[in-house]
Amino acid sequence: MPDFVYLSQNIGGAFDRLLCRTLEKRPHKLPEGRFVTLCFDDFPKSAVNVAAPMIEARDWRATWYVAGGYCGQTHPRMGAMFDRHDLERLARAGHDFGCHTFDHVDCRSHDPDAVADQCRRNLTFLNAAGIHDLASFAYPFGEVNLAAKTNPALSDYLRRGVKTGLNQGVADLALLKAVGLQANNGGIARALRSLRTLKNADGWLIIFTHDVREQPSPWGAAPSDYARLLQAVEESGADVVTMAEMAARLNVTAPSPAMAA
Ligand SMILES: [Zn+2]
Repeated sequence: MPDFVYLSQNIGGAFDRLLCRTLEKRPHKLPEGRFVTLCFDDFPKSAVNVAAPMIEARDWRATWYVAGGYCGQTHPRMGAMFDRHDLERLARAGHDFGCHTFDHVDCRSHDPDAVADQCRRNLTFLNAAGIHDLASFAYPFGEVNLAAKTNPALSDYLRRGVKTGLNQGVADLALLKAVGLQANNGGIARALRSLRTLKNADGWLIIFTHDVREQPSPWGAAPSDYARLLQAVEESGADVVTMAEMAARLNVTAPSPAMAA
C-alpha cells in the first residue's frame, strides 16, 4: 500500500490512527481461553520495587518495555527510572522484556531506518545486561503510522499500542489493543470493566502502566489501586501470561538473527 504509506507519513495523527486500525494488519486468531498480560513501560524504579513483588507473590510475571536510554535517569514526572541492577533482578525472577526503542522515539516522526537503528541499539543494550530473547515491541507514546507498522525491523515482534480495548477473536498482532491505567483513562476503572467482560468471554487483556507509587504521575497507578487490580485479575480466573508466553501460544516467530546481532 505505498500510497497509503505516503499519506500516513504526511497527514496528521487522527488519519494515521484510522489507517493503522484498518490496514497492514497481522491478523491472527487468538487461542481459546481468557488471558491477561501485565506490562510496564519505560520503566520507573517504583514499578520494580512496588509492583513486581505484588505480581511475584501471586506467582505471575510481567513484561517490561525497556527504552535503554532511560537507564539510570530520573524522569521529571515518573521519578527514578530503572537501572541495570533492576534489569538483572527482574531477569533473575523470570520476567519478560520487550523493546521500546532506545531513546523512546515517536515512530511516526522517525523514518523506518531510524526506528530500526533504535531497536538494534536497544537490543545491544539489553544483550549487555544478559537479556537476549525479546518477543514484543511497544510503540513509544502509542504513536504509529503505516510506515512504522510495515517496518521490516519490527515485523517479527508482537506489537502493542495504547488503543484501549480487549483483544478478542482475530487480533492484529502488529497493533494489539491494551488498557492503560493512566489518569485520563479513569485509573484502574477501565481495566476492571474489561476484566468483568473477560469473566464471561474469551479474550486477551493487556494492561500497562508506568510508575506505581503514592501520588503517581498521570501515567501511573497508586499501590493500593494496583493491588485492587491484581485481586480483580485473580478473581477473573484468566491465565496471566507474559507477552513471550503469548507469542509461544500463538506460535509466532522470534525476532530474526539479524535483529539480534
Ligand atoms: Zn513509553
